[in-house]
Amino acid sequence: MIAELISVGTEILLGNIVNTNANYLARKCAELGITNYYQVSVGDNEERLTDVIKTALSRSQILIFTGGLGPTKDDLTKEVTAKVLNKKLIEDSHTKERIREYFTRKKGLEITENNWKQALIIEGSTVVDNHNGTAPGLIVKTEEEKIIILLPGPPNELHPMFEEAIFPYLNKLQPGVLYSEMVKICGIGESKAETMIQDLIAHQTNPTIAPYAKTGEVHLRITASASDMTEGKALVKPVVEELQKRFSTHIYTNKEEENLEDVVVNLLAKHKLTISTAESCTGGLLTGRLVNVAGASEVLGEGFITYSNEAKEKYLKVSHKTLEKYGAVSKETAAEMASGACENISGYDGYTVDVNDGDDNNTGRKTSLAITGIAGPGGGTEEKPVGTVYIGCMVNGHVRVKKYQFKGNRQKVREYSVINGLDLLRTSIIEEFE
Ligand code: ATP
Repeated sequence: MIAELISVGTEILLGNIVNTNANYLARKCAELGITNYYQVSVGDNEERLTDVIKTALSRSQILIFTGGLGPTKDDLTKEVTAKVLNKKLIEDSHTKERIREYFTRKKGLEITENNWKQALIIEGSTVVDNHNGTAPGLIVKTEEEKIIILLPGPPNELHPMFEEAIFPYLNKLQPGVLYSEMVKICGIGESKAETMIQDLIAHQTNPTIAPYAKTGEVHLRITASASDMTEGKALVKPVVEELQKRFSTHIYTNKEEENLEDVVVNLLAKHKLTISTAESCTGGLLTGRLVNVAGASEVLGEGFITYSNEAKEKYLKVSHKTLEKYGAVSKETAAEMASGACENISGYDGYTVDVNDGDDNNTGRKTSLAITGIAGPGGGTEEKPVGTVYIGCMVNGHVRVKKYQFKGNRQKVREYSVINGLDLLRTSIIEEFE
């Protein structure tokens, strides 16, 4: 099945809003195994919207609209769709009641005459209740068995409506079931990851591989359409195995709900390790990510934010000489930050109290992760441009330091640093303990 996504709104064409709806719906189509060949953005203009609808009907089976369902005169999606289909707009008493209730709930909001425009539906359409606004969604089937779905523009109305009603509806249109698994990768850039599976993507039919890029990570969703779950699993299995071969330890999880910091905290707990962090350019971002994980208290000893050289010397015992000779952003400083943070775990015995594993001095149980870099926009030099980051970690008494060159603004460089730091720690623990 081929779907066409149509985003309606002059705001999109003017660049006043980012078309996140198209991005969201495209991902959902990939999840559903529905092909998406065309995405169109069109302004609130009757003539051009008519053209867009006619063209879409000529080349796609499912048309998914967002926006233009509001109460004002320039909200035209429903009216123009009805006109193109030669169908009437009729009042829907259920929707009218819901609109009345919505305004009663939102005390202080006055209902105006034009709000009743939203109670009009295209004759023969199925109404999808909007639990977060007043414009209902509509599903219309044309005589040629094409499906037109009209959805509200605001993402906080669109997303819940899609998840609750439209996703299951589209899923049912597909024969059989959709079964999908996730492969989450880090430590490899998006373009490299895509190049590594270009051949698989080029020849894919069933299952499909849909890549999503996140900051510093790539997620691959493998989706099979099958007659039942057992067949779906069997179809997905060899593809996941192939991806495992290609990406090996770069894959940090196959679990949908698990993120990188969850994996790191679980790994630390599994090996009865504790962690201490030392952050310069990330200024607490790394520790914050770890603390987000429920159960972090079992593994996190302390976090040092050592932004200045003085703080690095005072709290992490980085030597004055090292800072002078190599600079704060250097492999030497990162290494000393990592070992300093490890030594500094004080009064925190981690598992020593509970666990008798024969490791009496327990030093191998302490780990650390240290980040020092130039996040920009200032501070870069020819030798160390903005985005130069050194990440050090100490695991099982061994210090590892890696140099990274990140691209992007200050915030991106800091986020990349955290992700890559967590990944360095993850792979180091695996190398040392698994
Ligand atoms: P309502 O459900 O409130 O009546 P609507 O369906 O008429 O809204 P629009 O009036 O087109 O939707 O857009 C309302 C708001 O929704 C926009 O100002 C914008 O914030 C958001 N929005 C609309 N289209 C998109 C889009 N394609 N991507 C992201 N946000 C969007």
